[in-house]
Amino acid sequence: MIRELRTLLGHDAVLEPSAAYEQDATEGRGVRGRADAVVLPGRAADVATALAWCYEHDVPVVPRGGGTGYAGGAVPCDGGVVLGTERLRAVRSLDPLLWRATFEAGLPTGHVHRLARESGLYYPPDPGAAEASHLGGNVATNAGGPHAFLHGVTGHWVTGLEVAVAPGELIHVGGHTRKDVGGYDLRSLFVGSEGTLGIVTAVDLRLIPAPEAALPVVASYPDVAAGCAAVEAVYGSGLRAAALEYLDAATMAAAGQDTGFTVIAEAQGTVEEAARLRSALAEALAEGASSLQEPAADALWRWRGGVSIAVTALRGGKVSEDIAVPVDRLREAIERTVEIGAHHGLDACSWGHAGDGNLHSTFLVARDDLPGLERAAAAAGDLHALAVELGGTVTGEHGLGLLRSGELARQWGGRALDLHEAVKRAFDPKDLINPGKKRARAC
Ligand code: FAD
Repeated sequence: MIRELRTLLGHDAVLEPSAAYEQDATEGRGVRGRADAVVLPGRAADVATALAWCYEHDVPVVPRGGGTGYAGGAVPCDGGVVLGTERLRAVRSLDPLLWRATFEAGLPTGHVHRLARESGLYYPPDPGAAEASHLGGNVATNAGGPHAFLHGVTGHWVTGLEVAVAPGELIHVGGHTRKDVGGYDLRSLFVGSEGTLGIVTAVDLRLIPAPEAALPVVASYPDVAAGCAAVEAVYGSGLRAAALEYLDAATMAAAGQDTGFTVIAEAQGTVEEAARLRSALAEALAEGASSLQEPAADALWRWRGGVSIAVTALRGGKVSEDIAVPVDRLREAIERTVEIGAHHGLDACSWGHAGDGNLHSTFLVARDDLPGLERAAAAAGDLHALAVELGGTVTGEHGLGLLRSGELARQWGGRALDLHEAVKRAFDPKDLINPGKKRARAC
């Protein structure tokens, strides 16, 4: 396999398999795979060539971006080719005056942010591992982040996609037009498809002028009830916060702050607009608050980015889920996360995107504690059932991937599941593109 692929794509584009390409951010949960070869094409056309070879030879192909996924989506289940996009980093176009750009899929998310900023523009999607995740991976998972509350998740910013599809051809759906109702919306179908329908090679993005100022306010509360009431108070105020986050008391303690349940809201705009909005947000958050602070945005988001690591450090591992519920059920979801953990003999905490009702419910367990990891997997199942009971979804950000494959059956009924599987068959009749991932029903 490696010899033939090298003949087609060049010696340096094909590597022997190694652990780095056989795992992702779920490695701490014991998820590891096995590949036969790693292909790192340097040109989009070579992605289609590699896919054509895999399709002709019945070899599974697993698309891979930065490997930061929390669903095991980039992990090869049982051999085949891992196709990484890390050499596809070209800036194909950047038009500051027209607020748009086309980047290749392997460009790290942080580079997209900086390139936009250098042109006076703003690309709002800000998933937590931005220095390591790739734009193509963000598209494939429809990644969110704190500022998705006002600005929407990754797909909201994608106007077109270049994708290698079976049996081995590059197609382009959408482009730089801002409106397009010609045909079924294939662009949206690829967004969030977790590498199961095709391999994204380039992304057309719309951007917006960068806000002059970002001014956060941080409020602490004695309990979950008071904090969630404050989140609903922000909604009720009609104020347009750019981000609306929460961290429960146990998460705050893990991050070195004994301030109790905490809510973060951020105001964006011109310096004057943002200052006015922050005061109004502080007023909305004040009821029931034990303290209010106005930290600098950069320092706050840097600290917030380290929270997951601080929680992991408590036991040397964790199982983190990402259910989403309607915002008025957030309190119940937060409180029952801890109850579910206790039922399985595990300490639990949560934090997340309060305004989007999206929780990172987390069970603390050491990475080598196999019985503990099994109990955490059972707890994750109970959490998924809770999400559906509360009218929500088993995954709001990270996707079904391998870990949650089949869990969609908790959420959708019979014919909807059939249609989900029919879409997969239409794009990938041989089931070779990321097989075993994002399955509607358990395999
Ligand atoms: P990978 O992990 O490499 O792959 C993810 C999935 O996308 C796989 O199914 C893979 O097959 C597919 N894929 C990758 N590239 C392509 C491509 N070019 N074409 C087709 N399919 C492809 N996620 C959030 O949404 N919000 C957050 O705030 C957030 N915070 C995080 C914080 C940390 C510390 C970590 C480790 C992860 C976090 N994540 C978050 C999860 C993760 O970063 C996102 O899911 C991210 O979008 C994955 O991008 P990636 O390039 O690493 O993709």
